[in-house]
Amino acid sequence: MKLDLHVHTTAYSACSVMSPDEMMLAAKENGLDGICITEHNRIWSADEAEALSEKHGLPVFRGMEITTTGGDILVFGLEEEPGELWTPALLKAKVDAVGGVAIAAHPFRGFLVFGFGDLQMDVKDALENPTFSQVHGLEVCNSLVTDAENTLARDVADAAGLLKFAGSDAHKAASVGTCVMDFHDLIENEEDLVQAVLASRFTIHRMK
Ligand SMILES: [Zn+2]
Ligand SMILES: [Zn+2]
Repeated sequence: MKLDLHVHTTAYSACSVMSPDEMMLAAKENGLDGICITEHNRIWSADEAEALSEKHGLPVFRGMEITTTGGDILVFGLEEEPGELWTPALLKAKVDAVGGVAIAAHPFRGFLVFGFGDLQMDVKDALENPTFSQVHGLEVCNSLVTDAENTLARDVADAAGLLKFAGSDAHKAASVGTCVMDFHDLIENEEDLVQAVLASRFTIHRMK
């Protein structure tokens, strides 16, 4: 079951140029079996997601991308929106309290461009990031970062024993489905999604 678990729409993400309807059409065009909307610091209501799902005949799940003092963290299973800037540790405590999952989004975005590659950050240096001890996994396939940054994230996830997560981070229709997770089991709700992610019952694919 192929899902794109990291997308932003104009509904609640000012940085996106993709309406929810455009997102759904793109998801279907790209052969996705469902999508999970992860607006910045906002979660869709279950009713909103269900209405969109019914309109287009495709499952819609809900998560969030939360801005923390230690970078952007994707969460699933958490309904509480941040009223202020949280630390990764506080976010992790909230996620654990509800049995959710937390993933560091694009953990090395911008690290290896504009000459920063000359700093030659290696996996050992990268592992020092304190945020990585407050998440279950790292996003290692994100369409908005360079291949080198995705590769570093993958190597660090392996070295740290963290889950390897994929999401397009689409802010426009053309990006939907570029990084997908193919789940081994049927995902019918966010609880299924959280369990399947925590159990690593998926493979990740870069589609284009
Ligand atoms: Zn954004
Ligand atoms: Zn994002």
